[in-house]
Amino acid sequence: MAKSVDDLDSSAGSGTPDTADLVAREEQVFGENPLEVRESDHYTHEYVGSFVEKWDELIDWKKRYESEGSFFIDQLKARGVRSVLDVATGTGFHSVRLLEEGFDAVSADGSPQMLAKAFSNGLTYGGHILRVVHADWRWLNRDVHGEYDAIICLGNSFTHLFSERDRRKALAEFYAMLKHDGVLIIDQRNYDAILDNGFSSKHTYYYAGEDVSAEPDYIDEGLARFKYTFPDKSEFFLNMYPLRKNYMRRLMREVGFQRIDTYGDFQETYHDDEPDFFIHVAEKK
Ligand code: SAM
Repeated sequence: MAKSVDDLDSSAGSGTPDTADLVAREEQVFGENPLEVRESDHYTHEYVGSFVEKWDELIDWKKRYESEGSFFIDQLKARGVRSVLDVATGTGFHSVRLLEEGFDAVSADGSPQMLAKAFSNGLTYGGHILRVVHADWRWLNRDVHGEYDAIICLGNSFTHLFSERDRRKALAEFYAMLKHDGVLIIDQRNYDAILDNGFSSKHTYYYAGEDVSAEPDYIDEGLARFKYTFPDKSEFFLNMYPLRKNYMRRLMREVGFQRIDTYGDFQETYHDDEPDFFIHVAEKK
């Protein structure tokens, strides 16, 4: 049933925030020195309602669907995968795609705003009831149960972990939740290019036909701060850890994955030179 603004306000004191309230209200918080914000916990202050809403309004799911093609679906089907845990559900794009393709999907994320948006997107795009679980990767086994044929962590999400300890912990949790022959698919931005070519040669990535631009605002070996600019000139930021490709591959190998194939790019954005994204497909057996 539709709610009025009065309804939202009256629910605020109940201790259980209304879903729409959670999604719509918050603003990003980086404090006085944004360049010092290098913490794995900070993502919940970055993926706030205003950013989530704007992003999803502009990144047309149909265009994303077309540009990404069936890469992930093909990888999963080739391995006979049935059950998939989407650990970085975000607004639900991949979870919905998996349900459409008949996979048995569970959708986890550490951001309640994202999960609320994903759930409503599931209903909007095909009437799917997403099975959402609020869980941080570092304690995944505590909040999500069962074993899965595959885990996906897509959309440059793993970059939100700022310490090696957190990255190892998260990968170990993923590994533990996979069946003996399971597969983990993680993608990441090509940070090597940004770090090695230097800040001066930074380029801008355009999404959804130039409606949204993303460009590095600051970069060093421990921080990639990106600025997202929208057509109404509003700006949002994400502070991320610039994962190098071979470092990421090494971590997955050290956690126990036996075979790691790394692919360059899917055409979600356009750019001038090197691959924008790397996709790691890591097999447990
Ligand atoms: N996969 C989606 C997509 O491609 O549209 C969302 C990607 S979004 C860039 C990153 C997501 O990772 C956010 O929804 C954020 O809440 C989630 N995330 C970041 N760090 C996390 C953590 N430690 N545990 C659980 N979720 C996390």
